[in-house]
Amino acid sequence: MTAPSRTLIGIDLGTTNSLVAVFADDGPKLIPNSLGDMLTPSAVGYGDDGALLVGRAAKDRLLTHPQQTAARFKRYMGTGHEMVLGKKAFRAEELSSFVLRALKADAEAFLGQTVDEAVISVPAYFNDIQRKATITAAEFAGLKVNRLINEPTAAALAYGLQDRQGESTFLVVDLGGGTFDVSILEMFSGVMEVRASAGDAFLGGEDFTDALATELGRQLGIKPDGVSREDGARLRALADRMKVQLTEAAEASADFSLKGEARRVTITREKFDEITDPILKRLRLPIQRAISDASLRADDLHRIITVGGATRMPSVRQLVTRLFKRFPEYSIDPDHVVALGAAVQAGLAARHKALDDVVMTDVCPFTLGFETSIQVGEGKYEHGHFSPMIERNTVVPVSKSDIVSPLHPNQSEILFRIFQGESPFVKDNIQIGTLRVPLKGGAKDDRSVDIRYTYDTSGVLEVEATPLASKKTERLVIEGNPGSLPRDEIEKRLKALAAIKIHPRDQQENAALIARMRAAYENLLGDKRQSVGRLIAEFEGVMARQDPREINEARRQIEQILGNFERDDVF
Ligand code: ADP
Ligand code: MG
Repeated sequence: MTAPSRTLIGIDLGTTNSLVAVFADDGPKLIPNSLGDMLTPSAVGYGDDGALLVGRAAKDRLLTHPQQTAARFKRYMGTGHEMVLGKKAFRAEELSSFVLRALKADAEAFLGQTVDEAVISVPAYFNDIQRKATITAAEFAGLKVNRLINEPTAAALAYGLQDRQGESTFLVVDLGGGTFDVSILEMFSGVMEVRASAGDAFLGGEDFTDALATELGRQLGIKPDGVSREDGARLRALADRMKVQLTEAAEASADFSLKGEARRVTITREKFDEITDPILKRLRLPIQRAISDASLRADDLHRIITVGGATRMPSVRQLVTRLFKRFPEYSIDPDHVVALGAAVQAGLAARHKALDDVVMTDVCPFTLGFETSIQVGEGKYEHGHFSPMIERNTVVPVSKSDIVSPLHPNQSEILFRIFQGESPFVKDNIQIGTLRVPLKGGAKDDRSVDIRYTYDTSGVLEVEATPLASKKTERLVIEGNPGSLPRDEIEKRLKALAAIKIHPRDQQENAALIARMRAAYENLLGDKRQSVGRLIAEFEGVMARQDPREINEARRQIEQILGNFERDDVF
């Protein structure tokens, strides 16, 4: 009997869109979802039948069923924030787990085998709590995390395979839906080091959409927030579509239905660039900061890589070209590069023979330590100092230990407060947990404690403390932090989540089409609205007859009609 081959997938779990890829014999390969798309919108929502829809259908239903739909939950990863979906509130780990479940099912359908292990990308700045939350999301989805990979590292890995053992300095500019990240990475003999990272957590492609929605509203004589919620959402959806059109065309126009009347709006790329210039300007500072933090000059960078859907916009490309006086690399689609890099890491983990000569090591992106007190006089202590255990940019995995003694000889316990950050004072760093270590024994016993930090390849920390006297090891527990779920709570939620059904994969196409027709119905007026209304009724009739051939044929015809409407710019 031969051992079953181990299949690992690579996942880009994005704020706006998620992707899954696998390392095949001829390199990393993206896996399409049930609609044939490589990008699955990171949106989930309840469908009419009570099953959960993931991706495109859910995104389209944001317009028609906002109370039943959730999106952009990645920004709440590692916080206790919950989003209400129907009657139930979900945490970001849970909502993300639905996206992961759908991607896992797509991979299984594509590969023809079960998949239970993945490499998942996370932003380089994700702290320990956000990383652990991502691992919990995967566990909820029935996936074991082989490793978390930093998004810019994944991008550099996708591009850097050509370089292999060489030495290279990469600048990765990632403009996604809601975040802007700049990273400088150095690859030397297979070690990938994050030299600097900077960014803006409130800057992304969606800000360009908002600016355009405001401009369209101005043309229509309305303010996006001065209209009904439905009209506002439709205006924004229109702006989103026109923004994408302007990436290819010099002008875009469309009809917007307002109070039963079709109103024409038109925008040129020139005007779009003018109104979004203040947003574009905000991209400069993080780029400059990353370069100066890495003590480099623009000329020292070997490769400039653009990542994220919003870097497609001509104005963004021009800005990057102007800043570096050369064209950034585009050979890999900016939407795909992180997922492809995650798949390369998956190939490395599965010891794929095509990657025999590639070594890839990551470093920890931040310093980890604990709070200490410094003696400032006889019996006088100053608290709140940060004592590092593992320094930033140490190659992972790494394990370090130190002996710590209590301040007072009769202390009955030591409370270790575990922090992450670069400041010498804990108040400026992030507390990621506490560790309470009881000190037993008599006055003559050694009351010192051996404290050990182990940082794995995913950038996840384990802390253990062992009193030298008792030799009884205590492990880090995350106490009183709403961002972390305790183990028993994870088990409980795992059971509840397993009971939630995801819409069957082979019916996702139908659900997505219905969602799309309903969104179109909302937008249209007159004859066209009526014809979409008829199409919805007809398609529901076809579905009720349950003949797959008939359903497929109807879907094909309706998609064509909707496509024509969209091309006519009637939305
Ligand atoms: P995330 O990493 O946040 O999931 P993505 O990398 O998928 O995000 O980027 C999503 C953003 O890119 C959205 O704001 C989307 O509107 C924008 N975008 C995607 N394609 C284009 C395009 N062709 N032109 C302009 N913007 C685009
Ligand atoms: Mg992204």
